Amino acid sequence: MKEKTLAELSALIAQKEISSVELTQYYLDRIERLDGGLNSFISVTQEVALKQAAAADQKIAAGTAGPLTGLPMAHKDIFCTQGVRTSCGSKMLDNFIAPYNATVVEQVSNAGMVMLGKTNMDEFAMGSSNETSYYGAVSNPWDTDYVPGGSSGGSAAAVAARLTPIATGTDTGGSIRQPAALCGITGLKPTYGRVSRWGMIAFASSLDQGGPMAQSAEDAALLLNEMAGFDPKDSTSIERDVPDYSANLNDSLKGVKIGIPREYFSEGLEGGVENVVQDAITEYRKMGAEVIDIDLPNTNLAVPTYYVVAPAECSSNLSRYDGVRYGHRCDDPKDLEDLYKRSRGEGFGDEVKRRIMIGAYTLSAGYYDAYYLKAQRLRRLISEDFSNAFSKVDVIMGPVTPNTAFRKGEKADDPVSMYLSDIYTIAVNLAGLPGMSIPAGFSDNMPVGLQLIGNHFDESKLLNLAHQYQSVTDWHRQAPAGIE
Ligand code: GLN
Repeated sequence: MKEKTLAELSALIAQKEISSVELTQYYLDRIERLDGGLNSFISVTQEVALKQAAAADQKIAAGTAGPLTGLPMAHKDIFCTQGVRTSCGSKMLDNFIAPYNATVVEQVSNAGMVMLGKTNMDEFAMGSSNETSYYGAVSNPWDTDYVPGGSSGGSAAAVAARLTPIATGTDTGGSIRQPAALCGITGLKPTYGRVSRWGMIAFASSLDQGGPMAQSAEDAALLLNEMAGFDPKDSTSIERDVPDYSANLNDSLKGVKIGIPREYFSEGLEGGVENVVQDAITEYRKMGAEVIDIDLPNTNLAVPTYYVVAPAECSSNLSRYDGVRYGHRCDDPKDLEDLYKRSRGEGFGDEVKRRIMIGAYTLSAGYYDAYYLKAQRLRRLISEDFSNAFSKVDVIMGPVTPNTAFRKGEKADDPVSMYLSDIYTIAVNLAGLPGMSIPAGFSDNMPVGLQLIGNHFDESKLLNLAHQYQSVTDWHRQAPAGIE
């Protein structure tokens, strides 16, 4: 059962081979038995899950079920879930029970899906290794001494270990694609504005975007069909029809133009990763695609630009955690200032504090022009690189990360080396583009991802390219040994 994709499970439910309650119990048992060694869940919502599953079974019996009715899933613990702790991986929100559901949570629940629980993540989605979570590090199911990537590392590990058929994640600078690559699963970061951010705890609002983390592109399309769409509650949500993302998966790739950015294959890219990516590109050639070298000349500016823009937005977004309204409050404050200082000092971890300090600095009078304004200008240049590229090619392909998963602790004391994990993913967020990571092979027994980058709103094209690759390869069907 565990090797079945969401699409296959959907067929089993439709044929009444299994009930939603049975399927839900099956995954709850796997989580109970196997997650001790992975720590991919912060909360397991057994009671909610079984209740939703029973309701789904009634709909199925009544013939009113949709394609996802009764299928289990997990939410990254950044999405507000009514009546359920929503921690964002932080001590600050350890005691926070969300009073409402995020729009995404509503959408998948309206589709009849069953929530197994909330997955572990880097604190406030800041990180690339899942080591900054208040709830402890997550292990990579392919080798538990290694990190799963971050910040959606809990969702990636849970899907890779088949503790859930699918999960949600969020991506501000790579947090869907990088952990997907490191755990050997399929992850899609949609175009900025495609998926509602309402009720998704804000890190850097101009970059954050939720998306599916799945076994296959076919499954990612099924979940995106529910997640995407206009939301009047999110002022950056885009009013634009949602296509059926499952409709074009089988389109031919004859004549599709794939751009390969020279800058993504330079110094710093591990040989084993490069080989896998080159083999994948060869596979696309065989399927009839045309491969063209392109330039994204401002690639090297993406990480420095991001580390001005994202901390600036985070310092502003995280000012709401003040010990007054909700979240952690220190004991016996002397006065208001003491309340602020100690509540924030105790509630936030080191990485979050580092970002808040950088952000407050770059936004302060005297430095704003030198850093923040400059970064916004660079952001425009980076976007223009992509616009130029998309006048010549349909999609862009390259590595997701320069290396495979690294050992826990290896980069924990070296923030800059950690930040470079996202060197190939961050520009995509700065430009608001959709990006995908699909499993493409292994280097030293650890998974390697292939990145697909599309023009705005070209999610269907990315899913088509990913699905075609997955029709002729089986990397996405491989699961870590030892997790039975
Ligand atoms: N690793 C990047 C960071 O630490 C991106 C995180 C994300 O996409 N949420 O900010």
